Amino acid sequence: MAEIEREAMEYDVVIVGAGPAGLSAAIRLKQLDADLDVVVLEKGSEVGAHILSGAVLDPCGLDALIPDWKEKGAPITVPVKEDNFYMLGEAGQIRIPNFPMPPLMNNHGNYIVSMGNVCRWMAEQAEELGVEIFPGMACSELVYGDNGEVKGVVAGVFGLEKDGSYGPGTEPGMELHGKYVFISEGVRGSLAKEIITKYDLAKGKEVQKYGVGMKEIWEIDPAKHKEGTVTHTMGWPLGSKAGGGSFIYHLENNQVYVGFVVHLNYKNPHLFPYMEYQQFKHHPMVAELLEGGKRVAYGARAITEGGYQSMPKLVAPGAALLGCAAGMVNVPRIKGNHNAMLSGKAAAEAAFDAIKAERSGDELTAYEAEVREGAIGKDLKKVRNVKPMWSKWGLTASLMLGGLDMWTNTLGFSLFGTLGHGKNDAQSTEEASKHKPIDYPKPDGKLSFDRLTNVSFAMTNHEESQPCHLRLADDSLPVSVNLPKYAEPAQRYCPAGVYEIVEKDGQPEFVVNFQNCVHCKTCDIKDPSQNITWTTPQGGDGPNYPNM
Ligand SMILES: Cc1cc2nc3c(=O)[nH]c(=O)nc-3n(C[C@H](O)[C@H](O)[C@H](O)COP(=O)(O)OP(=O)(O)OC[C@H]3O[C@@H](n4cnc5c(N)ncnc54)[C@H](O)[C@@H]3O)c2cc1C
Repeated sequence: MAEIEREAMEYDVVIVGAGPAGLSAAIRLKQLDADLDVVVLEKGSEVGAHILSGAVLDPCGLDALIPDWKEKGAPITVPVKEDNFYMLGEAGQIRIPNFPMPPLMNNHGNYIVSMGNVCRWMAEQAEELGVEIFPGMACSELVYGDNGEVKGVVAGVFGLEKDGSYGPGTEPGMELHGKYVFISEGVRGSLAKEIITKYDLAKGKEVQKYGVGMKEIWEIDPAKHKEGTVTHTMGWPLGSKAGGGSFIYHLENNQVYVGFVVHLNYKNPHLFPYMEYQQFKHHPMVAELLEGGKRVAYGARAITEGGYQSMPKLVAPGAALLGCAAGMVNVPRIKGNHNAMLSGKAAAEAAFDAIKAERSGDELTAYEAEVREGAIGKDLKKVRNVKPMWSKWGLTASLMLGGLDMWTNTLGFSLFGTLGHGKNDAQSTEEASKHKPIDYPKPDGKLSFDRLTNVSFAMTNHEESQPCHLRLADDSLPVSVNLPKYAEPAQRYCPAGVYEIVEKDGQPEFVVNFQNCVHCKTCDIKDPSQNITWTTPQGGDGPNYPNM
């Protein structure tokens, strides 16, 4: 193939992804020096289109970045008023009192927000400071400099031929070069993956762990709506089949976020995370809340769960990993947005100092030190054993021992040191023959919905004429290995129904409906053969979330 010629644009800092991490970095850079040239590239059709979070926001990140966010009209207006935690059985529930919980679990002072809307507002703040933001521009490749440093990205490639080649209608995109490139792609970023591998950034760290989070927005009967109420549940229907649980957040306008997270280290390949979620809504406590209401949006996204010990090295020559591209979620608090913002701020400050000292293309070691030793490291270190305890010893033991460990860590020590995670989530999947298939009730169309109907509420779109962005290393493997060995779990772990086994001429065939993809990245994580690579499709494709 002939060398592709592209225009190049030079910036001080190039930022990939307009999530809370990337936007915080952009804002901080311009606060420090209005003359810096800063660009943010976002694959969603608009800022916020691909943002899916819970979300209860701990405002500490925003307080540090924009202390007068209230006066500036941030869409952060629903303080948490009530915090409930329930253990569910099939027909009832037990309320766990708040007093034995370590103080870090308290949501007092936090807000129920749409992170999509918070990002839209942050983008306005960034643009007012002079940041250039380009939505609909997917960064599909990294550009390396002569000394092997990350020098920039390729963004805005459109209209590839079906086989991935360049044709007469292909726009080759452009190169955006920076003195530093910030990778803030969120969980399982594809450029982040390349950088972590190329520079061996995960060496000596624990494997990264993940969950898949699914979420619906419901409009409910105003008589049942209690603005500011936060409810978390564990137990039924997952039981001991997998780690995970639900969140129910009452925001404004009679809307409720109803979400469910399933940890991806489950063993039984017959498990169907989406159907567990749908079943959960039939619990009497949840059904009572939702009856008479309607689901207005649906989406899904993976969440990082490895925590402190799984964070890779954060810097490579010319590049830094921000937010969940490096995995900064505090798992028991289910919160990562505050750390994403703090990491953006810290990376910006390190880059500003480096650029002032006329450096470029090197490692921003000051950023790494600030994350590990500053507020983010402290937040994550205290809870580092909760996830490994849950994986090793199950829910009940981990609630007690994890609670104890969080208490002692609050006092400055741990009885357990730092526990490891063991296998990655793909390796955790066991052979289908060791497990029983699970019979899930059919969705009733009122409280529970089939996947394809729900996916239409993610308003996702991928041009059919473009190449499939879900690449199989070996096309035959889903049928030759995954089907006989694991009952091809892609049919079930994907929350958007992308993967199917159909019968063609009496033979099983693996079908990839990439048009349905909601960019959650679960397939890239959970495929037991690690045969699927999620690559970035052209800009503007993917979900179009409202106030997720
Ligand atoms: C179900 C669920 C519930 C959660 N609940 C909470 C909660 O209640 N509170 C909380 O604080 N945290 C919560 N989190 C975690 C929180 O959402 C993350 O920690 C946070 O989103 C990380 O921010 P980020 O900026 O690193 O990444 P993201 O928010 O994921 O943003 C990344 C952005 O980069 C874009 N992007 C990615 N790749 C490219 C590319 N190659 N080119 C261009 N653009 C790209 C994406 O489209 C996206 O807009 C939850 C997460 C999930 C999944």
